[in-house]
Amino acid sequence: MAISGECFCGKISYRVNGKLHDARSCHCSRCRKAFSSQASAYAEVALGTFEWVAGEDLLTTYESHDGFGLQFCSLCGSTLCGIYKGDIHGVTLGCVNGDPGIEIARHIFVGSKAAWEVMPEGVIEFEQGPPE
Ligand SMILES: [Zn+2]
Ligand SMILES: [Zn+2]
Repeated sequence: MAISGECFCGKISYRVNGKLHDARSCHCSRCRKAFSSQASAYAEVALGTFEWVAGEDLLTTYESHDGFGLQFCSLCGSTLCGIYKGDIHGVTLGCVNGDPGIEIARHIFVGSKAAWEVMPEGVIEFEQGPPE
């Protein structure tokens, strides 16, 4: 079954014809700003499985570094997906509808988390990135 997602105002929606993988949450200062939150919540999609269903013309792209970027709704501001060199790389879990059948497997860069964030007990966390 396809996974679907949409922004806060609902004008932009997408479908993923496949599974999400490598769900993670990054607590670094850059991700806090990019996701306007205590951390990112993000999972990758397999190349070619992602398609926009509606509102693609309302997307705004912010390219951050090394070909990576984020795309968000120009009306409501929801960040919907990450791109790498023009291809959809992954989706923000906050905009996914329902249960995508995946859980966040690791919390990274917890060593630089916000002072006000309290980490839940029992999650798999790394001070920096995960070991290679
Ligand atoms: Zn929107
Ligand atoms: Zn980060």
